[in-house]
Amino acid sequence: MGTYDECKAGILQCSSWLCRQGYFGTLQGTGGNVSVRAASGNVFVITPSGRRYETMTPDDMCVMDFDMKQIEGSLAPSVEAALHLRIYQSRPDVNAVVHTHQTCASVLAVTNTALPAMFDEVMVSIGELIEVIPYALSGSPELVDNVASKLGNLCNCYLMQNHGALSMGESLDKAWLNAELLEKAARIYCIALATGNGVTTIPAPILNDLVALRREMVRGAARANEARWESGGR
Ligand SMILES: [Zn+2]
Repeated sequence: MGTYDECKAGILQCSSWLCRQGYFGTLQGTGGNVSVRAASGNVFVITPSGRRYETMTPDDMCVMDFDMKQIEGSLAPSVEAALHLRIYQSRPDVNAVVHTHQTCASVLAVTNTALPAMFDEVMVSIGELIEVIPYALSGSPELVDNVASKLGNLCNCYLMQNHGALSMGESLDKAWLNAELLEKAARIYCIALATGNGVTTIPAPILNDLVALRREMVRGAARANEARWESGGR
C-alpha cells in the first residue's frame, strides 16, 4: 500500500459519483475537481487536469506538496490546484474540497444570489449563509484571492459567480455530502423563489444558537487536525 492510496481511491469514488450524478455539468467533459489533504497535513491529493472521469484510475491522481511540487502522478494536476491549496492553508478544519458545476447552485451563482439558512441540517453541516465569490477566470490567481477573501466565515460551501460551487469538510465524505446538501437546498430555494411567495428562514434565536454551536465545532475540528499534524499525522 502506498502512502496516498486511500486518498486516491476515495477521490476516484467521489468524483465518479459526482460525474454520474451530473455535478460536473457534463458526463463527457472534464470539469470540476476533487482533493483530499493527506494525514501529514501539508500534502494534498487532487484529480488531474483534462482527464475524463470514466477513464480515470487511482494512479492518475496527483500528489502535491504545499509548495505545489508534484510528488506523485504523471498527469498535470487540475488547473484549480492552487485554489485547493489556499483553502487548506486558510482553513485547518478542512481536509477535503469538492469543486463542481452543479445545476441549481450554478443558477444562484449566475444570479448572484446568496443561499440563506432554510434547514437546520444544512445550517449545521454547511453554515448560516452560502455566499457568492466574485467572478475571476478559472485557474487564475485572482480567483484564488477571491475565494480566500470569503473563507473567514467558516462556511463549508460557496457559490462561484458565473462558474459553479465549492464544497469542503472535515473529511471527503463530509465535503461530498455538503455538495449534495448544497444542491438540495439550492434546488428548493430556486423553486421557492419562482413561486413569487416569500421564503422563510430559520428564526433568529434558533439560528444564533446553531451558529455558535457550529463555530465551536469548526474550531474544535481545526484544533484536532493541528494536534494530529504536530504529532506527525498519526
Ligand atoms: Zn470549474
